[in-house]
Amino acid sequence: MSSPSDHQLAVYTGAFDPVHLGHVDIIERGRTLFDRLVVGVGINPEKESLFSLEDRVRFLKLVVSKFDNVEVRPFKGLTVRFVREVGARIMLRGLRTLSDMEYEFTMSLTNSSLDPGLETVFLLAKDQYSHVSSTLIRQIFTLQGDLEKFVPPEVKTVLQERLKNLPEE
Ligand code: ADP
Repeated sequence: MSSPSDHQLAVYTGAFDPVHLGHVDIIERGRTLFDRLVVGVGINPEKESLFSLEDRVRFLKLVVSKFDNVEVRPFKGLTVRFVREVGARIMLRGLRTLSDMEYEFTMSLTNSSLDPGLETVFLLAKDQYSHVSSTLIRQIFTLQGDLEKFVPPEVKTVLQERLKNLPEE
């Protein structure tokens, strides 16, 4: 049996390498559906990340500092374990495309097998963000393109600073 307070807390996990406007939209909408939202920044063992875990957490904290019911935490290991450690049973996810759907469906079933008490809640990406991904942002960043339309202004500023400090090739 779940406790009455369970559904008041949800956990939104991802690599956030780096956080972009699609993620922020899910956070903004998620935080109005639940009393509290924990954003878990994880490590994907199959993908090398461009930004360190510390940086990814720092960028997210810049964005959510204005939200009083959102907290950012790094985690290592299984997502289901992290969700339970936080004291939640609801995982929040965003869906962009049909291919996301296939992946997320598999993940959700796997997570339920690992921990049958968990539920996944999906929010559909807004039209204007459905093409935005961290992969795209990493490419634009690496090629020094304009990130204005893809990342929150706070993140754009730190990323630009980062580019200025890169050694010349
Ligand atoms: P990405 O796929 O961009 O590298 P993450 O692994 O950090 O992102 O994804 C974390 C969560 O955010 C997943 O549920 C993913 O589907 C969701 N998400 C990613 N991009 C978007 C977007 N543009 N709009 C809505 N949700 C998104």
